[in-house]
Amino acid sequence: MSSSASKWRSSRLDKLGSSIFAEISRGKSEARQRGIDVISLDIGTPALPPAEEVRSALASASMDERNYGYPGTQGSERFRTTVATWFEHRFGVKLDPDKEILSLMGTQDGLAHLALAVTDPGDGALLPDPGYPVYQAGLAVAGVETIPLPLLEENGYLPDFDSVPDEAWRKAKFMLLNYPSNPLSAVADLAFYEKAVRVAKERGVLLVSDNAYSEMAFDGFRPPSVLEVPGAMDVAIEFHSMSKSFHLAGARIGFAVGNREVLETLASLKGNIDFGVFQAVQEAAVAALEKDMTDPAPAFELYECRRDLFLAELDKHGWSIPRSKATMFVWAPVPSGWTSRDFAEQLLESTGVAVIPGNAFGSRGEGYVRLALVEPEERLLEAAARIGRFLREAGEV
Ligand SMILES: *Cc1c(COP(=O)(O)O)cnc(C)c1O
Repeated sequence: MSSSASKWRSSRLDKLGSSIFAEISRGKSEARQRGIDVISLDIGTPALPPAEEVRSALASASMDERNYGYPGTQGSERFRTTVATWFEHRFGVKLDPDKEILSLMGTQDGLAHLALAVTDPGDGALLPDPGYPVYQAGLAVAGVETIPLPLLEENGYLPDFDSVPDEAWRKAKFMLLNYPSNPLSAVADLAFYEKAVRVAKERGVLLVSDNAYSEMAFDGFRPPSVLEVPGAMDVAIEFHSMSKSFHLAGARIGFAVGNREVLETLASLKGNIDFGVFQAVQEAAVAALEKDMTDPAPAFELYECRRDLFLAELDKHGWSIPRSKATMFVWAPVPSGWTSRDFAEQLLESTGVAVIPGNAFGSRGEGYVRLALVEPEERLLEAAARIGRFLREAGEV
């Protein structure tokens, strides 16, 4: 599909996504045509199928004739009650299933529609830089100005709220935070969320937490929910995904929790756009959450092993990368003298290893690349060996 100007193409689309993703995808096709065996560490698609119990629940719910009506935007009572039980089990936070939980067609659905639901023309929103590209897409569709919230390595990739100008706070309707973070793989603790809630209250902005990787942190760390902070419910909502932690990416289900007014507003917009998540898919999510409470099979174990193996191997080949703390991503500083894009392009061209240049996630991502640990261990070892050869040939090590 062409992205060039067309009579029937809104200029809003010009602000969507980053062309870098398309370039990498083209680079992969070209490499394959040249006979190169491509190792895709670029896109973060989950590596495993959902648990058998979850697939069985989906299968039997799909045979139930009653599950084929319009499901409704809010989500079934059974789904919301199960989310409430899981949320209390996992975070110790009690939620009202009728008012404080909303089903979503994936977190993406909530993230992309939020700005349309809560902003007016002339508003802005604070987005992490670097950050997940969908945040920016949601603002672009709503015609809302992006105000970057710089995330710097020296601050552990947490924002410095004091450095945000007063004018930006006045303009911002909401502030988006994403920990554990894609692409940074950084984490936040409860003390950070306490500060964020205080700042959101002082400044009168809605605090939006994207907790898509809550179940995917390493070295024993259990990411908190922003709603664990007393009083957070007054100013915050949080998005949760079934995609990464429970391997249900293709089923498209997630949920939003928190401030009831904001959830009602989001639901009223969504009620005009979609009619909810297929009930059989909600049953699959119920099965996944129930299994997590009785017989957990945490998704982080797989990625923690891969991280240890891959980073140790790259270290042997002369590229030392800070240990990622969470997620399926490794955020790696490129050797000095390279731009992110040159490094990613040349690595792909000469080795067939595909990674994403950091500036695809915002200008503060320059100087880094993101590698996704979505290939099996032997492929990751092969990728590390090829990267090592590339660095030696480039005279980097
Ligand atoms: C993958 C991802 C999502 C999207 O999750 P879905 O529930 O599949 O829509 C949201 N946020 C971040 C940071 C992600 O990496």
